[in-house]
Amino acid sequence: LYDNKDDILAIKPEELQLKSDAEIERIEKLVKNALNENRLEVYFQPIYNVKEKKYTSAEALIRMKDDEGNNISPGVFIPIAEKSSVIIDIGAFVIEEVCKLLSTEHLSALGLEYVEVNISMVECLQSNLASNILSVLKKYNIASSQINLEITETSASEFTDIVDTNIKTLSSKNISFSLDDFGTGYSSLSRILSLPLKLIKIDKSLVQAPFINRDKKSMILLDNFIKTAFAAGFDIVAEGVETNEMAKHVIALGCTYIQGFYFSKPLSKTDFVEAIKVNKPAEI
Ligand code: C2E
Ligand code: MG
Ligand code: MG
Ligand code: MG
Repeated sequence: LYDNKDDILAIKPEELQLKSDAEIERIEKLVKNALNENRLEVYFQPIYNVKEKKYTSAEALIRMKDDEGNNISPGVFIPIAEKSSVIIDIGAFVIEEVCKLLSTEHLSALGLEYVEVNISMVECLQSNLASNILSVLKKYNIASSQINLEITETSASEFTDIVDTNIKTLSSKNISFSLDDFGTGYSSLSRILSLPLKLIKIDKSLVQAPFINRDKKSMILLDNFIKTAFAAGFDIVAEGVETNEMAKHVIALGCTYIQGFYFSKPLSKTDFVEAIKVNKPAEI
């Protein structure tokens, strides 16, 4: 895959650190055979557009089940998949499922502008990422403007030519990009400004902190992250909005989109299509 991926992935997500070695081994086996054994399903979480007061986009989120039908969190199995080429197959599966949804449901007629798809740093480092994505879009006859790719600060801050070439090629074909989990990474503002980003997604830990801690410091932090993204001209998504109070607050701060359980959890394809057809988000 690439030479120093172990270094890059050395900082393990919290969820993974809590797992025993035996549990990690069990998940490794499940991940390895997940596609063959039909364990994967793509869910979709509606995203609320503040100006239009309805859902105009969604995020594709992968789900995996074990033999007992229990869900294993992608926060746990994606980092495991990233240690092998499995993540590339999973990424291809997700894009294909998103294209299938867009080709059969004509969601643009219902006001859905695009679907956001998470792209792993490991995928970004594959020289054929751009051509693979473009050929799936072609296969299903999907306009590239209907896809938005979410990259994280970790992948955004990898100064490799391959990452930059992938991003350049895809955005020249009209595929837009979002920066995911803003506020949790370490990339410099200048690097962020150099990327062709449409959206900045403020991480849920930052969004929720003022409402959990009830302190001035978390509030100042959130306020400043949003102001910075706003001043730089990006549209802003607040992630993890769970209450009416939080929704009101992030709107007052200038967020243009809201994603969170206050509106909807991630939904199966069938339930999602139903939700978009009705398109009656909770009142704010
Ligand atoms: P993410 O990309 O930051 O996705 C947002 C996560 O926040 C999702 O968790 C979503 O279910 C959760 N979320 C949304 N609203 C709320 C809320 O109001 N409260 C709370 N507590 N959580 C909320 P999920 O689905 O468990 O995914 C976790 C992470 O796994 C994602 O974080 C992303 O980094 C990764 N992931 C998920 N699907 C994919 C995929 O298809 N490909 C790749 N490479 N990574 C994926
Ligand atoms: Mg995401
Ligand atoms: Mg996120
Ligand atoms: Mg994330």
